[in-house]
Amino acid sequence: MDQASPDTFDITKTFADLGLKPAVLEGLTQRGFKHPTKIQAALIPVALAGKDVLGQAKTGTGKTAAFGLPLLQMLDTEAAFGALVLVPTRELAIQVAKELQELGSFAKVQTVAVYGGQPIDKQVPQLKKGPPIIVGTPGRVMDLAERGILPFEHFRFAILDEVDRMLDIGFRDDIRKILGKLRKTPQTIFVSATISPEIEKLARSYMKDPEKIVTFEKSLTVAQVKQSYFTVERWDKKRLLLHLLKKENPHLAVVFCRTKRAVDDVTEFLGRNKIDAQAMHGDLFQKKRDKVMDQLREGNLSVLVASDLAARGLDVDDITHVVNYDMPEDPEVYIHRIGRTARAGRSGVAWSFVAPDQGELLTNIEMLANVEIPVTEYDDFKPGPIPADVSAMREYEAKRREEAQVARNRHAGPEIPVVAEQVDPNMFPDGIVPTALPGRRLGGRAATRRR
Ligand code: ADP
Ligand code: MG
Repeated sequence: MDQASPDTFDITKTFADLGLKPAVLEGLTQRGFKHPTKIQAALIPVALAGKDVLGQAKTGTGKTAAFGLPLLQMLDTEAAFGALVLVPTRELAIQVAKELQELGSFAKVQTVAVYGGQPIDKQVPQLKKGPPIIVGTPGRVMDLAERGILPFEHFRFAILDEVDRMLDIGFRDDIRKILGKLRKTPQTIFVSATISPEIEKLARSYMKDPEKIVTFEKSLTVAQVKQSYFTVERWDKKRLLLHLLKKENPHLAVVFCRTKRAVDDVTEFLGRNKIDAQAMHGDLFQKKRDKVMDQLREGNLSVLVASDLAARGLDVDDITHVVNYDMPEDPEVYIHRIGRTARAGRSGVAWSFVAPDQGELLTNIEMLANVEIPVTEYDDFKPGPIPADVSAMREYEAKRREEAQVARNRHAGPEIPVVAEQVDPNMFPDGIVPTALPGRRLGGRAATRRR
């Protein structure tokens, strides 16, 4: 993190003020952290006091260190299997473990990552050494426990990173099983960028009288990401992407697609057009995923095409551009995505490809993020002609609408106007009594202010 942004940090405090011991502070100095972020300043003292904490703060605000530093402080170097940190993806397991290893190097508290896709035999010897902190994905953690290699009853701390994901339908059962097997009252710290009321209720059922901490960084999306959108027909998206990548030549762009197929398709198209792009989604072999991650971290990749799940929580420095190749249905997902850039104080660019019928998605995002996203007009990009199959489909639909209209007119007889005398005015206490039916609907096409 280069520039300390007052929006993300609590510059009135130092880490020493939060009650951290010298060995832990040394790790922070080495890592180059000067001031705590707001969520760190708020969460760390509460966790150190032994309380359960439910923490919510935007993506890229240092939630890993917020739960990690109290663990490093409270766990003994020798305390085998002291804390279990559960995360939703393998990449996140690696990343979170790496951050804790770095932060814990002076306190000499070891962290080991366990996740699927890596041979279990590789992880077993590391676990046999009895590291104090285990970071893992639920599936692999259960596997290891079943083999008797992870003594669940030891753990004094249970952490859920990305708790909204961990307690949603996909992982819920695994988490229930794992948390159910831990000792009766581990101290819990659950964190996420978003926590719905439903998730919060479920989370609380695993916690004892938790303190909820929500910090409002002046939205990082507002402050640091330069957002804009392009109106583009679906069939032009690939060409527009290629055009923009060639023109702007981003240092590192992450392109988000909705499906694995789209990820592969776009990656392949870029490759064919001499853009150095790699795909990242859940169906790729772990070896391949690791290779892509290494390439990313080492700065040897300029375009990553990814699905939302694969990119969740990833903290890769230096992502300069995020491209919403497919707009997400859920505005929260947009926030997660663009949080991949402008990590902790940097700046970044986000481009969104909005199809003509997706104005509403964009408006929902604007409302959530509380920003107006400006349109970028094309300069030298020429939209292509309507593909033959699309225009044939449109003609067919128009014709069907027309025929349906004719049929309706034939069968419906003359429209009966509703006149004031036929309506009971008492039903409309404001005195505005309707005198006619609402106009015909717009044939399914609502007008938006988008073009
Ligand atoms: P989150 O989990 O909230 O999305 P991360 O924990 O992944 O965020 O942290 C984002 C980045 O900010 C990481 O590179 C991390 O090393 C860095 N970071 C965290 N806390 C600080 C701090 N207090 N000072 C400087 N950099 C920090
Ligand atoms: Mg995180």
